[in-house]
Amino acid sequence: MTPAITLTPKGAARLVAGHPWIYRSDLGRHEGLDAGLVRLLDPRGKGLGTALFSPHSEIRVRWLAPDGVTVDASWWQQAIHAAVHRRAGIIDTGARMVHAEGDGLPSLIVDRYGAVAVAQLLSAGLETVRGEVIDAIRAALEPRSLLLRNDASVRTRERLPRETVAAFGDVPERAPYSEGALTFNAAPWKGQKTGAYLDQRENHQLVGGLGRGRCLDVFSYHGAFALQMLKHGASDVVAIDSSKEALAASQESASENGLSGLTPVEADAFDWLRSETRAGKRYEVVVLDPPAFAKEKGSVERALAGYKELNLQAMKLLAPGGHLFTASCSYHVHRGDFFQMLSEAAADSGRRMQIVEIRSASSDHPELVTVPETGYLKAALLRAIE
Ligand code: SAH
Repeated sequence: MTPAITLTPKGAARLVAGHPWIYRSDLGRHEGLDAGLVRLLDPRGKGLGTALFSPHSEIRVRWLAPDGVTVDASWWQQAIHAAVHRRAGIIDTGARMVHAEGDGLPSLIVDRYGAVAVAQLLSAGLETVRGEVIDAIRAALEPRSLLLRNDASVRTRERLPRETVAAFGDVPERAPYSEGALTFNAAPWKGQKTGAYLDQRENHQLVGGLGRGRCLDVFSYHGAFALQMLKHGASDVVAIDSSKEALAASQESASENGLSGLTPVEADAFDWLRSETRAGKRYEVVVLDPPAFAKEKGSVERALAGYKELNLQAMKLLAPGGHLFTASCSYHVHRGDFFQMLSEAAADSGRRMQIVEIRSASSDHPELVTVPETGYLKAALLRAIE
């Protein structure tokens, strides 16, 4: 029998408003309960559905399914299959197949890189149904191998071990996948995230189409923006990153795709951009895709100062008519803050900047209207009109 937990009126209201997370303080007595599936009750004893329970995390409960629906092996099969089916129109072979809460599968991420799947199980409740989840991923995607990239720091809050283990099959060091007309290699075992930044998949291709003359890819990782620009008409692209391994991978992908004109530079982006503006350089396209500067609420102000500095330098580097693609993946920096920061940077730069497009993560990273936490990536394509 699935154990039951009663929610406080506030907790129940949150669920009814469409948010699947219930915090510790919004639950009735639940001491001694082990991680796993629980049945939720409202204060009057009415069933509110089945959820994942985490005994140690601040987010104690993550809602899965309405009352009357049994969450068993076939439920996981059906839910993961449905998420994969929603992506049937994606031609790229590297894409996110399950975006956790955004797909109604809280704390589960599944990415596909060609024949290799990489999953993250990010809650103690989900960990208890690991076997069922693995079977469902296998059935829905039929990958040759599946890696559990369970080394994310959020697992510590769940008191789960941080580990990277193969669930089945031989997981290679490099997993090739296509993105538009190019082939890249994800690094499932040791790369950042699950091996690549799939959230910028559609943006790589949008920005690629603007490539001409000399361009700049700042925070380049495997050089996906850079190589898309070279493919579509840029003559030279400088790729800046602090990671030697990431730059080496971008160089390798350039030669695998038969592209010349890439100059990888290992440097701190802030220092490098400042010296480049001092030297009076100009670029047709500048991409700024920094890591999350605000990891928690308290660091938003400092993060915004960092973003502003980068964007200010980048705007100064634009050739007349040149484009700036700029992003922030800090969840705590909200859209309004991001655009305010851009307006301050534009004013200080002395350039007149048009908003060409407002962008977000690719469509395989869907945001739920009622769950702001499912959307973290904000981006804008801007143009210097003179
Ligand atoms: N643009 C990439 C993703 C970038 S993720 C893509 O679309 O695939 C952020 C990158 O910034 C990481 O590769 C990280 O190594 C790099 N990085 C972090 N801090 C940096 C710094 N101060 N200077 C330069 N690169 C940095």
